[in-house]
Amino acid sequence: MSQQAKSLFKKVWDAHCIRELPSGQTQLLIGTHLIHEVTSPQAFAMLRELGLPVRFPQRTFATVDHIIPTDDQSRPLADDLAEAMMSELERNCRDYDIQFFGPETGAQGIVHVIGPELGLTQPGMTIACGDSHTSTHGAFGAIAFGIGTSQVRDLLATQSMGIAPLQVRRIEVTGQLARGVFAKDVILAIIRKLGVNGGVGYAYEYAGPVIDAMSIEERMTVCNMSIEGGARCGYVNPDEKTIEYLRGRRYTPDDADFAGKAEGWLSMASDPGCEYDDVVELDGSAIEPSITWGIHPGHNLGVSEQIPTPNGVPDDERAGVEEALEYMDFAPGASIAGTPIDVAFIGSCTNGRISDLREAAKIAQTGKVRDGVRALVVPGSMAVREEAEAEGLHEIFRAAGFQWREPGCSMCLAMNPDKLQGREVCASSSNRNFKGRQGSPSGRTLLMSPAMVAAAAIAGEVVDVRKIQ
Ligand code: SF4
Repeated sequence: MSQQAKSLFKKVWDAHCIRELPSGQTQLLIGTHLIHEVTSPQAFAMLRELGLPVRFPQRTFATVDHIIPTDDQSRPLADDLAEAMMSELERNCRDYDIQFFGPETGAQGIVHVIGPELGLTQPGMTIACGDSHTSTHGAFGAIAFGIGTSQVRDLLATQSMGIAPLQVRRIEVTGQLARGVFAKDVILAIIRKLGVNGGVGYAYEYAGPVIDAMSIEERMTVCNMSIEGGARCGYVNPDEKTIEYLRGRRYTPDDADFAGKAEGWLSMASDPGCEYDDVVELDGSAIEPSITWGIHPGHNLGVSEQIPTPNGVPDDERAGVEEALEYMDFAPGASIAGTPIDVAFIGSCTNGRISDLREAAKIAQTGKVRDGVRALVVPGSMAVREEAEAEGLHEIFRAAGFQWREPGCSMCLAMNPDKLQGREVCASSSNRNFKGRQGSPSGRTLLMSPAMVAAAAIAGEVVDVRKIQ
């Protein structure tokens, strides 16, 4: 009897299902739990209160990313609260025997950058972390969920969590990306097409020739922003690129066992002919370098387009467009190209990897940061920083007038000293352009690819990177 064809999502879900709960949720076994300093302290406090141990400390890994400064990381940290949070994480990891990738290990970085880099993220796994952008790990064919503090507690105590079943939408990106168009532009185009709530109740499976042609790091950028489209998680089926990326990583099997493991990983890919709850197609050849103009990632357009007018959008979008135009203080109908910027930020778990820095450096070497623009490059991890420095990228950035920083989340969320001031406009390679996201309650964020950020830093305004390359 032939086995029923299944999607990767279904295979992983079935393999990790412990039981159906009376609530209708599934109790799912989680293979790897990643923790950091912001969402774990209360969870550990609850464990202590209940007198519970961490069920599988060897499946739990910690780093510090949100609060860590990117200029001077010497201890004690200058900010008392940041020092207290980091010390608390260190204490919890010590007390519960959890591996902590602090700066002294040389492996510190943003949790979604170091997981893959260490080989902790593998195909067919379930992964969870108290951070929204855990979907990043789906680039390897893992099913990865961002969770809240009470789920962090549950996971520490039981290595499992309750979660409602999801539908699966396959998103096929056809054609071929044009020069100057990157993974960031692809995911912005997907979110623009399907909406910021379009993915609610879904896992997104990204597929098609454009996704197939992407590097693993580019796939991470796409999966990272699944959550911005409302999806609970997003993934790409593992292929030979996935296997090659994982070969020789610290937590992947050594040579003797690798081939067998790789075969198992590849078998997790969605079966041909499996059923999806929905299938959507997008023409990748038509995607332009994209920029957000409003207050959520769905408010984005191509660099040759104009900012919408309230009358030009469907009725149910009008109020949102009016609110965004007022907050951003942008003229309806104006071109997005030419919008002046004050700050340029290259980094984050969306676009702080080595390939992102390489693309940005290609643009940075064509000029100097415009007078009056503050420009920061923040590597996603110590390993990324080291690799970039070995290639001399830091010198290219510095020569162009960018600040070269230590790894961390930095201005993506501005829980450290890297913040916008007042109404500053920031060209940013991060993933959220919500009101006040970058540290100033009235600051304004324009999301775009790292190459577009570098181009904006040099021009002092939004420009089409294709005119520079
Ligand atoms: S870089 Fe931003 S989105 Fe990513 S983990 Fe840090 S704060 Fe969250």
